[in-house]
Amino acid sequence: MGEFSNDVFVFRSESYDVKIITDGLRRAFEALGVDLSAFRNKNVVIKPNLVIRKTPDAAATTHPAVIDALLCLLDEVGIVPTIAESPGGVFSPSRLGASYRVCGIEEVAKNHGAVLNTDITSEKMTFDGAKTLKVFDIITPIAKADVIFDLCKLKSHSLTKMSAAAKNLYGTIPGITKFELHAAHPDAKDFTSMLCDLSQMLCTEKTVIAVTDAIIGMEGEGPTGGSPRKIGAVTVSKNPFAADYVSTKILGMEGGVPLVEQAKERGLFDAEKINVLGDGTDEIKVDGFVLPKSQNMPVLKFFSEGRMGKFFTPRPKITDKCRGCGECAASCPQHTIKIVNKKAKINAKNCIKCYCCQELCPFVAIKIKRNPIMVLISKLR
Ligand code: SF4
Ligand code: SF4
Repeated sequence: MGEFSNDVFVFRSESYDVKIITDGLRRAFEALGVDLSAFRNKNVVIKPNLVIRKTPDAAATTHPAVIDALLCLLDEVGIVPTIAESPGGVFSPSRLGASYRVCGIEEVAKNHGAVLNTDITSEKMTFDGAKTLKVFDIITPIAKADVIFDLCKLKSHSLTKMSAAAKNLYGTIPGITKFELHAAHPDAKDFTSMLCDLSQMLCTEKTVIAVTDAIIGMEGEGPTGGSPRKIGAVTVSKNPFAADYVSTKILGMEGGVPLVEQAKERGLFDAEKINVLGDGTDEIKVDGFVLPKSQNMPVLKFFSEGRMGKFFTPRPKITDKCRGCGECAASCPQHTIKIVNKKAKINAKNCIKCYCCQELCPFVAIKIKRNPIMVLISKLR
């Protein structure tokens, strides 16, 4: 990243009209000084958010129209990019193919001749400036990329509160290695710091351009089980952390998203100098954005830290919607879920409350249950 940028371009779009988005991206790149033709001889990779196999209307994944729009602009300068993602769960060519198909990416890529990555190998990348984790396993197309278009979706997130440009880069870690990192960093602050190391490393080693699909975002039980929420905007920045800061302002979460606060403390953007270009954010009204249950509670410091915090943190609960598919058991970093009589059962003792199970349940069968004492306290406050 070198000198970090505080410029964030915002353009309005009420729908997934490819022409409107293409025009918006063109304006954004011009204003931000992104010359696509300069990437002609580079290895260009698009990293969408395809965390779960759901159709675009579910608003859990980057909408194919946003990818289509970027591909239109890359076509103009003769660039054939690779589209690469490591979705949640097991990383295999067949599962990747299903993700591309269901999320609507396969057709768009075919129309433009873009390459859909099915290579499941990874390479080590090292970041000497790390505060928590120095060596990361990164999927090969990203490790080899010169330029990464970080095409994220703006969503609520049970664990990190908000998922946007920086969090999307967690999908550069191969498959279940993501769960191992959850297990290795059970403390939320540690996990946030590790996420920040990863994004900072990629932004230091590569050219990263963040494009946030906030036309229809997700609120409530995000990042996969929430409800679509119209926001009507796309943000573009050469700095994913600056883009995420603007997203917190749009959603009314300024100062409350740990990963963004961590980036601010590390000096990865300057909140005082953020320069919003394009259509700006004044016209974007997102009143009462619904947070996940795990986050939506005033927390007293005493109840949120150490052992006490672990006890009072909201926990996952299997509901009657469970079909026993086993996806949650396969994604639990603590191996604390078993399928008994075609229903998932969680051994709460070993649960680190990472919410991977909730995130990857295809049937939205896992709810987050708040501790009754905390519910009572929050009512009394
Ligand atoms: S809770 Fe969801 S992921 Fe787990 S077994 Fe049931 S349906 Fe499958
Ligand atoms: S049960 Fe769910 S929340 Fe608990 S450790 Fe396993 S995946 Fe994480």
